[in-house]
Amino acid sequence: MLEVRGLTKQYDKTLAVSGVSFEVRDGELAVLLGPNGAGKSTTIKCIIGLLNHEGEVLVDGHPGKSLQAKRLFGYVPETPALYDMLTVWEHLEFIAHAYGLSDWQERGEKLLERLDLEDKKEKLGKELSKGMQQKVSICCALLPQPKVIFFDEPMIGLDPKAIKELKAMFTELSDAGASLLISTHIIDSVEGLWDRALIMKDGHVLYSGTKREFEEGEEKLEDIFFRLTEGGLK
Ligand code: ADP
Ligand code: MG
Repeated sequence: MLEVRGLTKQYDKTLAVSGVSFEVRDGELAVLLGPNGAGKSTTIKCIIGLLNHEGEVLVDGHPGKSLQAKRLFGYVPETPALYDMLTVWEHLEFIAHAYGLSDWQERGEKLLERLDLEDKKEKLGKELSKGMQQKVSICCALLPQPKVIFFDEPMIGLDPKAIKELKAMFTELSDAGASLLISTHIIDSVEGLWDRALIMKDGHVLYSGTKREFEEGEEKLEDIFFRLTEGGLK
């Protein structure tokens, strides 16, 4: 369970995120939609403690910056940041050591297999294409079996097969009780997947609704998105 209250982040002159509040319950998949520059990546980076911010973040009741909370997080950044001189398998070993995981090898093999990386285990980070790096980044994030998982524009750079596999993983993770927050500026990429949709623009959440609330309304998500983000409300 993720709770965010009054999250605010100012970079020098830019108010990137302003008073953002929402929650993602256990087993829920929330999608954070918004045009480029809306504040999606900044929101995620604040929640996981990469950026200083105002406001409160609670993960299963633990303050966002506590070790207990960090143990529960998984994060797939917008741009993968692998180690040039570690192999794919060494990345997983590194994560396993950092999190003190035991019996992780089989799970690691399975993750690599699902994302078509099993024959890349000995490749160095710097030898991988952008899409392969993205897949390794996903494997690293999921290896510790996090309970609250952030994916920042995860489909960008992935081939159709990996996108299909990733969507299947999203469903499995939320079925297993994890809370997922997926940011994207491409609405179609999350169709049929989400339980809660948040639409952001200029640092504000302009719409927050559950699947049920949305289905009771007349408007399509895409129409709501364009009405709010192009409509000059802000
Ligand atoms: P999104 O992920 O929705 O595209 P971002 O969170 O990356 O949006 O950016 C939100 C706003 O904050 C934008 O106006 C962007 O220019 C600004 N911004 C992002 N990162 C920085 C930074 N490191 N320094 C200053 N401004 C930034
Ligand atoms: Mg972004």
